[in-house]
Amino acid sequence: MAIQILHRKNQAESTHKIEKIDFSRFLSGMPARDYIFQNIPYEEQIRQVAELLEDADAVIIGAGAGLSTAAGMNYGGRRFTDNFQEFIDRYGPAYMTDMYSAGFYPFPTQEEKWGYWSKHAYLNRIEPDALPLYRSVYDLVKEKPHFVLTTNVDHQFWKVGFSDEEIFATQGDYGEIQCEKGCHPKVYDAVELFSRMNEARTGCQIPSELVPKCPVCGGNMTMHLRCDQYFLEDEHWHEAAARYGDFLSEYSGKKVVLLELGVGFNTPTIIRFPFEKMVRQEAGWSLVRLNLNEAVVPESLGERAVGINADLAGSIEDIRKLCAGTGEERAENDA
Ligand SMILES: [Zn+2]
Repeated sequence: MAIQILHRKNQAESTHKIEKIDFSRFLSGMPARDYIFQNIPYEEQIRQVAELLEDADAVIIGAGAGLSTAAGMNYGGRRFTDNFQEFIDRYGPAYMTDMYSAGFYPFPTQEEKWGYWSKHAYLNRIEPDALPLYRSVYDLVKEKPHFVLTTNVDHQFWKVGFSDEEIFATQGDYGEIQCEKGCHPKVYDAVELFSRMNEARTGCQIPSELVPKCPVCGGNMTMHLRCDQYFLEDEHWHEAAARYGDFLSEYSGKKVVLLELGVGFNTPTIIRFPFEKMVRQEAGWSLVRLNLNEAVVPESLGERAVGINADLAGSIEDIRKLCAGTGEERAENDA
């Protein structure tokens, strides 16, 4: 009897608290206890992934910040202090801790705001060549139909050779600017402008004549990055979203590998959770999750999920070697 009363009490409580979702207990429509670190040897996991890729009709890459970090685009540490010492001295080390936090600093003038952002964009988007890890990812999937869904804004997928038609970058691009109030649905290429700002910067500021203004409302411009409700989903964004949707439909019912690279829990609703949901819905699809610390996968997906909890640069190299090896073997057998 006592147990029954307790049970009823819990039910009543849970009804009241329904709007509060505790993600440590409940993830992606299933209890978090379904999430496991797989107890399978690394070499075996690499072999499983190589087989899944060999067998796939198509590959969908889902890439988050962890991929760029593994590729060497570190936002903190020496890379930050070596490049931003003037900014750290001017605004204080409490705010200027790394390139992610520094972007949120309330710069008092437009000259200072663009003084910071032009440097940030130059270092992370304009100056770097295609990074070797991104090249390896391209090599791994280039022979199969593929599509890229990414929250990364550093343009690396274009640089390594993916075509614009096969990339959906949902969160913007460091090389573009937009009206701060989003008064009209157009984004502007700012790569040239940022290069000029970067040369003209003195101290932490750029000259006033380089400050961009909205050509429609005359107001301030801002980076084309999703950080508030004014982020513009322009025509190109909607076209990319539609192409992604078409790709998903085209390969429904076929064999697809969802190759998730460095996606954490910062914005899991864009890649991580939808990927899990699609594997649940499509019997021929599987999930490969490469992540240094958060490679937990739903146990209920069984062999259709592989979660490799390791430095993903190393994992990609090992998978690539194995795929190349089996490819050569097959070519020899065919000959
Ligand atoms: Zn405007």
